[in-house]
Amino acid sequence: MAKPADTRTAGRKPAAKATAQATRSAAETEKIRAALAARRDELRAEYDQTLSEITELQRDRLTDSAGDDQADTGTKTFEREQEISLANSIRERITQVERALERLDEGGYGWCERCGNPIPVERLAAFPSATLCVTCKQLEERR
Ligand SMILES: [Zn+2]
Repeated sequence: MAKPADTRTAGRKPAAKATAQATRSAAETEKIRAALAARRDELRAEYDQTLSEITELQRDRLTDSAGDDQADTGTKTFEREQEISLANSIRERITQVERALERLDEGGYGWCERCGNPIPVERLAAFPSATLCVTCKQLEERR
């Protein structure tokens, strides 16, 4: 005698939709990863450049400061401080991009904190630390 059809199979619910949140395709994720990696490389080059300028300024200060009057020394010190603060801000941006790459791997990166929609790839490439989509950002600024 044939068994009755398995009602559990027949009445099975359709696969639950993961979340209401939109999903991002693997291709898009790769695009973001490539954009972030390119940004990080750019910043690293910029950082190295700044560091060598600091070294140069430092060398100038040590070698030909004999003939300098106080104003010259002051200018050089100021320039060097400017370069150092530039280097620090570049390093900060590198860290942001690196964190973004880590979060991208975990799937927690590139979503608008306000509406939950994906932030466009172009925006993320330009502003790796963006946490809002353009629409929400504009709403935020209008307040
Ligand atoms: Zn949004």
